[in-house]
Amino acid sequence: MELHCPDCGSIVYSRRSPKCGVCGKPLPESFRFSPEEAARYEEQLRIAKEGLDQAVAENREIEEQTRERLREVQRRSNSIFPPPFM
Ligand SMILES: [Zn+2]
Repeated sequence: MELHCPDCGSIVYSRRSPKCGVCGKPLPESFRFSPEEAARYEEQLRIAKEGLDQAVAENREIEEQTRERLREVQRRSNSIFPPPFM
């Protein structure tokens, strides 16, 4: 599910930003990661990047797979609207 800015209707790409990337208006609280979600995301990203660094050192083929995984983590964090209790 995509989130749209209530002011300009643009798709919200970053759920870590408190403002719309297009018009700069503040986004609703519910659009944003909670501190827990943000921490989880940062952790996932850190692990993926660590894996990438390692892969670069070891093997180009693995590097590409790891980049794919990193993109997947980033894509998921921006496109899924998670709260299961809402
Ligand atoms: Zn906007």
